[in-house]
Amino acid sequence: MSKTIIISNRLPVKITQQNNEYELQVSEGGLATGLGSIYKEGDNIWIGWCGLDVPKEDESRIINELEKENLAPVFLTEDEIKLYYEGFSNETLWPVFHYMSTYAQYDESYWESYKQVNEKFRDAVIALAQPGDIIWIHDYQLLLLPQLIREKLPDTTIGFFQHIPFPSFELFRLIPWRAELLNGMLGADLIGFHTYDDVRHFTSSATRVLPVQTNANTIHQDDRNITIDAFPMGIDAKKFDALSKTEEVRLINDNYNEILGDTKIILSIDRLDYSKGIVQRLLAFEKVLIEHPEYIGKISLHMIVVPSRDTIPQYRDLRDDIDKLVGNINSRFRTSAWHPIHYFYRSFPITELSALYNRANICLVTPMRDGMNLVSKEYVASKTNEPGVLILSEMAGASKELIEAIIINPNNLAEMSNAIVQALEMGKEEQQTRMLSLRQTVLKFDINHWVKIFMDQLKEVKELEKSRY
Ligand code: UDP
Repeated sequence: MSKTIIISNRLPVKITQQNNEYELQVSEGGLATGLGSIYKEGDNIWIGWCGLDVPKEDESRIINELEKENLAPVFLTEDEIKLYYEGFSNETLWPVFHYMSTYAQYDESYWESYKQVNEKFRDAVIALAQPGDIIWIHDYQLLLLPQLIREKLPDTTIGFFQHIPFPSFELFRLIPWRAELLNGMLGADLIGFHTYDDVRHFTSSATRVLPVQTNANTIHQDDRNITIDAFPMGIDAKKFDALSKTEEVRLINDNYNEILGDTKIILSIDRLDYSKGIVQRLLAFEKVLIEHPEYIGKISLHMIVVPSRDTIPQYRDLRDDIDKLVGNINSRFRTSAWHPIHYFYRSFPITELSALYNRANICLVTPMRDGMNLVSKEYVASKTNEPGVLILSEMAGASKELIEAIIINPNNLAEMSNAIVQALEMGKEEQQTRMLSLRQTVLKFDINHWVKIFMDQLKEVKELEKSRY
């Protein structure tokens, strides 16, 4: 019997250590839920880093605990985490792939570690894989893995999905190891991205850097055909829809309503990241207050920023910039009874997020670049009673699907502040019409649909490939 092996940098699990005991909490994130329908079945398995620096003597305990959940760990040393993960993944690939190439570090030691950790993942896969298994690799931390596995198991079915954007060739070519990265990815039978633009950028980079031939969405290399396609990822929409109707969320909302009264809430939720356009968003909000003093006391921006990657200097600087800007705007416009910005630098439980999504009159999503952006879809799925307005950056993959949102360019402050005013003034009927269409898209093309179409196409392209011989 063949099995399916999922591989990602992180396992869908949070392990905490207390008094020499390890506690395991399986993640409820969208991807984990969607892939749950696969990895929890039979002998299927998910391989990844467990997110913890585990002492050698405890490794077998962790392996045993994880095995019960169909999970298998890859153990990374402190050095590997620093060089492969924080270094090459987050200081080289992340900025270039998000069009912030001036932030990128091209460090030979990062690259060496990236190669070596990808090989470590390969060894973990080879130890468990049998010929005939289906392998699905996720994201930019493992770009070399498809080819590394292909060399050991030439006939295996391998799918690869990249969750972040693939940049245009002019950006991608900056990376000294661009050919190695492309060859690594091309070990897969099917390579998926969120949008057709990413597909186009990848195909054009491959043709310009490597001696390969392309035909529509197929790349031909070493007598193999590799299919490149777009699979816009969905969310667990039913969960957000149902959650917003629960008693617990209603009670949180009652509490908000008591505190906030009629104030119109503009909501933004992101990880701390320079790709998210947080500073631009604050400037646009400030512009609204400057140009439309009639809104003072009547609107407020609820901004949740989840701490992230704070070992990297650009992230620390960004946090300082946000702190200053929020301080300036609040001190300039606040009254004794009202704050323009409620800024939270921490994460929230999902029930609180659901209540905020449900209550927010506007969700303001302004990334400079984003592979997909799940927050925009979660907002729509949570809008079960009153409608609301989604303002969405055209630089987010989600903007290709959520076309009834107000679409903005986050570099255009005037357009962003006009969009906020347009959303504040939009009549209920128009809100309802737009939200209805958005909800149809988000509820139909959910995470289960995404998993199914990727897996179906992976099997299909492999059958087609086999039939050539
Ligand atoms: N999120 C969370 N806790 C929080 C705030 C956000 O778990 O306190 C989740 C949010 O629900 C969403 C994810 O973080 O699923 C952010 O995904 P998105 O695609 O918008 O951005 P990413 O962080 O992946 O770049």
